[in-house]
Amino acid sequence: MTNTSETTSTANDPLAIHRRAIIVDMHADTTQRLVDENVDLAQRLSDGHLDAVRAKEGGLDAQFFSIWVEPELFGVGGPSAMKRADIQIQAIHGLAEKHPETWELATTAADVRRIAASGKIAALMGMEGGYAIDEKIENVERYYNMGVRYMSGAWSVSTSWAGSSGDEAGKTRGLNDFGKQVISEMNRLGMMVDVSHLSDKAFWDIVKTSTKPVIATHSGCRAITNVPRNLTDEMIVALAKTGGVVNVIFYPEHIEPGYAEKKKKVDAEIAAEVQRASNEEKGDVAHKKLARDRVREREYLNRLPPVTVARIVDHIDHIVKLVGIDHVGIGSDFDGVQVVPADLKSVADLPNLTAELLRRGYSESDIDKILGGNMLRVMEEVEKK
Ligand SMILES: [Zn+2]
Repeated sequence: MTNTSETTSTANDPLAIHRRAIIVDMHADTTQRLVDENVDLAQRLSDGHLDAVRAKEGGLDAQFFSIWVEPELFGVGGPSAMKRADIQIQAIHGLAEKHPETWELATTAADVRRIAASGKIAALMGMEGGYAIDEKIENVERYYNMGVRYMSGAWSVSTSWAGSSGDEAGKTRGLNDFGKQVISEMNRLGMMVDVSHLSDKAFWDIVKTSTKPVIATHSGCRAITNVPRNLTDEMIVALAKTGGVVNVIFYPEHIEPGYAEKKKKVDAEIAAEVQRASNEEKGDVAHKKLARDRVREREYLNRLPPVTVARIVDHIDHIVKLVGIDHVGIGSDFDGVQVVPADLKSVADLPNLTAELLRRGYSESDIDKILGGNMLRVMEEVEKK
């Protein structure tokens, strides 16, 4: 937070700030909806968290779409993991092909600035979990060439080369030699290194190995909400030293203290109902997962206490107090979670986040940095050869 004497015409008007600022969301799982539900993101959708109509209402300029291979369904490598990633990448390319008036594929910060100025939405891609590189170094470049601009070594299941925060293997696994080679290759190509979902050991190996800024695309602070998915203060300081950015997730389980325990209880209560919905769904594995998630979404809303944007800003405040205004951004995890803050139900509600930042005393230029400016700086840095 810095004091400001600037009195522009848009001061203190969240929506006006949104219209002018370049807003970059570092993580949404809407890709799965494109592939499995064949949704049309040019239309206003009646469910989910993101489409072009609501994105424009919220002032969003650039969306990183997650290329996520669910290891339980598609494996931790091999042809099926690669195929699942390739289908998702095609779906993102398809956005701009089907609706060139609304979407444009972007791979650089300059692309984002140009597309934002034209009034369109930039679509970018990040790979969540390195399963699709199939333990082959040349596949990092393959995905770079397909437009992928960030990657994390693992999602909730560890790869052989990078430990995850979500499983037993990750408790002792960092990066092995191949994992370090992958980071160097990403540095060489200009692909950002994402630490969200990684084990603590992998985090520390990455900040030691990477010669370029390191980012967390969708994480919170462990000092506020003590879950393994979040970063400790020491990690946030180390990540900032690389020049990187922690993009704060909107997911209540990762931002609200005690929420994970409450959700675990609810999960036990609704387990039978979730299973029944899965059994009754006659579609493929992806559709069975959708059926399970629909029950979860309904029951979490009914049974769990509401969380608001104020809690997201608590995490932003914490990071700013630790390392300053230049190392924080946003990574919604929209369409990848079954519950979102009560006043941030979709991308259209993003101005509520800005309103809370203004209430806490952030200046307009601070807000510009948080909403996208910091990540554009990192992209430019990582793009340098
Ligand atoms: Zn995630």
